[in-house]
Formats: sequence, C-alpha cells, structure tokens
Amino acid sequence: MNFHILTLFPEMVLNGLNTSIIGRACEKGLLSIEAINIRDFTKDKHKKVDDYPYGGGAGMLMQAQPIYDAYLDVVSRIPTRQRPRVIYVTPQGSVFHQDMAKSLANEQDLIFLCGHYEGVDERVLEEIVTDYVSIGDYVLTGGELPAMVMIDAISRMVPGVLSNEDSGETESFHDHLLEYPQYSRPEEWHEKKVPEVLLSGHHANIEKWRLEKSIERTKERRPDLYEKYRKSLEENQ
Ligand code: SAM
Repeated sequence: MNFHILTLFPEMVLNGLNTSIIGRACEKGLLSIEAINIRDFTKDKHKKVDDYPYGGGAGMLMQAQPIYDAYLDVVSRIPTRQRPRVIYVTPQGSVFHQDMAKSLANEQDLIFLCGHYEGVDERVLEEIVTDYVSIGDYVLTGGELPAMVMIDAISRMVPGVLSNEDSGETESFHDHLLEYPQYSRPEEWHEKKVPEVLLSGHHANIEKWRLEKSIERTKERRPDLYEKYRKSLEENQ
C-alpha cells in the first residue's frame, strides 16, 4: 500500500513514520510512504504558499495552486493513473475510527492533504478531496499529526504488517469491545498478583475471563461502545 502525504513539513511525517513496526513494513516493501513538499510546487518567486483570506479574519490560508500541482504530480506517478482517494485531514471531517482504518487499508494508494495555518482555499478542496476526516473534536496547528495517526492505524490493518495477524482481531474496538487487561512477568509486582486464571493454562477459562473483563471495561469506560455491543448481541440472537 502506498501513502502519499502532501505537506509543508515532510521531515516531520517521515521521521514520525520511519520507525518500529511501520518502518519495518516499509523496509519489507509492504508499505511505501512518501512526503511531497507542497512548497516545491509554488509558482511564487518568493516560494510563498499562503495568503490572506478574502473577507478578512485571522491568519493565513494555504493557496490552491501549489497544492493542486503537488497533487497532479502524485497522480502522474501512479502507474494506473487512476485518481486515488484524497483525504483532507480537518477538524471539519467525520471522526476517524477503527472500521474506517480497516476499510482504507484496502486501497492501493491514498493521498493525505495536511493543512496548516487557518486551513486551505476551499476551491482546491472541491477539486481534489474525496474524504474529509478528523481525529477528534479539537484543533491542532497542522494536519501532519492527524495524517500520521491515520497512516499508523491504517498500516496495521494491511496484511503482513503486524507480525501476528491475529493481534488485530483481539484488540480494542473489535466487536465493539475494548481489550481485556493484560499482564507480563513477574507474577507478583507491588503486591499485585497476576489473576490466577491466566496461569492455569485452561484456554477456555482464559477466553471466558477475558471476554468478561472486556465487557466490564467497555461498560465502565465507554458506555457508548457498550451500547453498540449490546445491540449487536440482540441482533445476532
Ligand atoms: N480554521 C480551521 C477550522 O476552524 O476548521 C482549523 C485550521 S487548523 C489550525 C490547521 C490544520 O490542522 C487544518 O487545516 C487541518 O489540516 C489540521 N487539523 C487541525 N485539527 C485537526 C483535527 N482535529 N483533525 C484533523 N486535522 C486537523
């Protein structure tokens, strides 16, 4: 899967995504991540990429031309020449979630557009963007962190990226539940013992305990998610 990130800060996204699991997946050729510097495409002789918003108001806006030309450059290098989905990361989008990550992992190419300053000239968004996606109801200074968050979550859903394919299946949000509590060595730490059942070797009991804990935790911490779990149980009865 190929990620193309349109940004004014390419080093920020590349440094953030080149390590650990995602970095190894890139080395193995399962993923490729390129950051395209929007500034390289400006036709302004001073390399400017932003200007004042018409009608006044605080801050500067990213201009349409450099973004559009950077986008055309990416599309021209995609072998099929098919226009890939373009995600504009914005607090004005629908909120990103695990199912969205899973579904986007089926794409061959994805373009991310990272805004900065007060945002982006609406006209270029109308021309190129297919999806408006937010990472939550708060405002950040730029789209680089949201793009990195989404790329990390999507990449984990690409087959082969996680060493144990199962781990995506038992994690939080699978079946509308949060994951159960986990423990590692030693068996006792700060006078807290690992629950007996996990040391029993009895797989059926361990599964039962984990499901109970998942349900308990979801009900307590995420009542909204628990409601979805409860409804899905009712529907499957
Ligand atoms: N003026 C914009 C508004 O009120 O919607 C906010 C602009 S924000 C300061 C600059 C850029 O950061 C945005 O263009 C967007 O790309 C990114 N950004 C900020 N918060 C975000 C969020 N919660 N999710 C995704 N992207 C975000």
